[in-house]
Parts: sequence; structure tokens; C-alpha cells
Amino acid sequence: MDAEHMGADLENVLFTEEQIQQRLAELAAEVWEDYHDKNVLLVGVLRGAVMVMADFSRALPGSAEMDWMAVSSYGSGTKSSGVVRILKDLDTDISGRHVLIVEDIIDSGLTLSWIRTNLESRGPASVEICTLLRKPEAAKVAIDVKYVGFEIPNAFVVGYGLDYAEKYRNLRQIGTLAKHVYS
Ligand code: 5GP
Ligand code: MG
Ligand code: MG
Repeated sequence: MDAEHMGADLENVLFTEEQIQQRLAELAAEVWEDYHDKNVLLVGVLRGAVMVMADFSRALPGSAEMDWMAVSSYGSGTKSSGVVRILKDLDTDISGRHVLIVEDIIDSGLTLSWIRTNLESRGPASVEICTLLRKPEAAKVAIDVKYVGFEIPNAFVVGYGLDYAEKYRNLRQIGTLAKHVYS
């Protein structure tokens, strides 16, 4: 769906399709410089990172392996608690591998920080993070993120994989949701 299909549910478009693709291409070029000789394993975190993974991985100028994890973080509603449970684990043995976690958004950082520690305990050669969006003001833990697409203000965003109550993941753009939708 397009932003125009959201009517009054959309407050603002933050990033257009073109802006997203342009930034992902830049990130892919940067990542490939660092990983072209490392047989990188891209690890996507379901479900939000599906769109980022699809477009980012295809922007890479060479082949990369891909695997997926699904986690649930316990917490009240839209807040993450840092207590994480693995719903679907990787199928790949990552010992000795160079792992690049591909994420949609880092908010408090609690979920990703847990995932990184978990993956690091499996003996990989390296674990780095690539995220399309980050909210610096919302950070609750210091987390070293090597590749960041855009830093955004502390507002709830939807689209391009990001949902509100499982809706709007298929929005082509990224935008802020009007308050009346969630209050
Ligand atoms: P964290 O543990 O960093 O607080 O939360 C990470 C997860 O919360 C993200 O992967 C995403 O699923 C969800 N999340 C955080 N901020 C937003 C947001 O602005 N919009 C949406 N749709 N999901 C978000
Ligand atoms: Mg995510
Ligand atoms: Mg969600």
C-alpha cells in the first residue's frame, strides 16, 4: 500500500521509497567493502526486518547467505523489557562465521543487545549490526551499531516492515502514525 491509502491514519511520511532504496544502496556498498572476502551471514530478525533484508541484500554486489531469527520480548504493549525468548532460532551454525544482524529499527536497544550477546556466545568470528532506523533518544543500553540508515526522533513509526498491531507492514513508505490510531 501507499501513503495515500492510509488517509487520516498517517501523520507524516518520514522516508519515501526512493530515500529508503538510496540509503540501503549506500549501506550495501559500505558493508560489501568490509565483508566481500568474509562469506558474511546476514541474520534477519523477524518479522520487521523482512523488507530491509529483501532490499538491502539485493543491493549487495555479491552473494551473501541469509538466515532468520524470531524473538518475542516480554513487556507491556509497545515497550520492550529486555527479557527475550527465542521463537525461531537460526538454522545455521555460526561458529567461526562473520555475522551481520539486519534490523528494521533500534528503539531501546534491549532486544538487539540480548540477541547480540546470545549470538556472541556461539563462537562466531564477529557479530555486527546493520539497522535501517535508530532512535538515539530512546536508547536504554549502549549498543555498538556499525551501520545505521537513518537516525529518527523518538516517535512511533510504521511501514516498510514496521507494524502497529500487525498492520501497515506493507506500506511502501515509512511514516508516523496519527495519534487517534493508538490512543
Ligand atoms: P527495542 O528492544 O530496541 O526497544 O525494540 C525493538 C523492536 O521494537 C523493533 O524491532 C520493533 O519491532 C519494535 N519497535 C520499536 N520502535 C518502533 C516503532 O517506532 N515502530 C514500530 N512499528 N515498531 C517499533
Ligand atoms: Mg525488528
Ligand atoms: Mg511490531
